[in-house]
Amino acid sequence: MKCPFCNYEDTKVIDSRSQDDNTTIKRRRLCEKCGKRFTTYERIDILPITIIKKDGSREIFDKNKLISGILKSCNKRPVTMKQIEGLVDDIENKLSTLPEKEVPSDTIGNMVMDRLKYLDEVAYVRFASVYRQFKDINTFMDELAKLLVEKKDTTND
Ligand SMILES: [Zn+2]
Repeated sequence: MKCPFCNYEDTKVIDSRSQDDNTTIKRRRLCEKCGKRFTTYERIDILPITIIKKDGSREIFDKNKLISGILKSCNKRPVTMKQIEGLVDDIENKLSTLPEKEVPSDTIGNMVMDRLKYLDEVAYVRFASVYRQFKDINTFMDELAKLLVEKKDTTND
């Protein structure tokens, strides 16, 4: 760690202590060149993802809640728990690479739908109908039509 006063490269840690339930380590450092002291904080770089819900309220991303939502859509469908967990792990990894730590619930819903349609079409439509809260039959049919077109596209490839 470079000295902020004289830019000397070699500074010495003279004291380390953890703070905030061991999620942060505070280090006192001493510059061996100019003799000044400064403090650095070391933190785990995984921040919880916050979901922005449709009404604007915030909620911490809960993996288990997402799994149980998908499980409901997969009721009596040939989708294994392992596949669902894999899907959610994939989304979690994707989320952790995003620069923003607040994600609209729509983004998560779309991520689930993008993956679910390749696992099981019935589960996909069920999830989409709950998730998008289709207001009328037309919106629902639009979604189905989109799915069918995409399916046709994949078959042609
Ligand atoms: Zn210095």
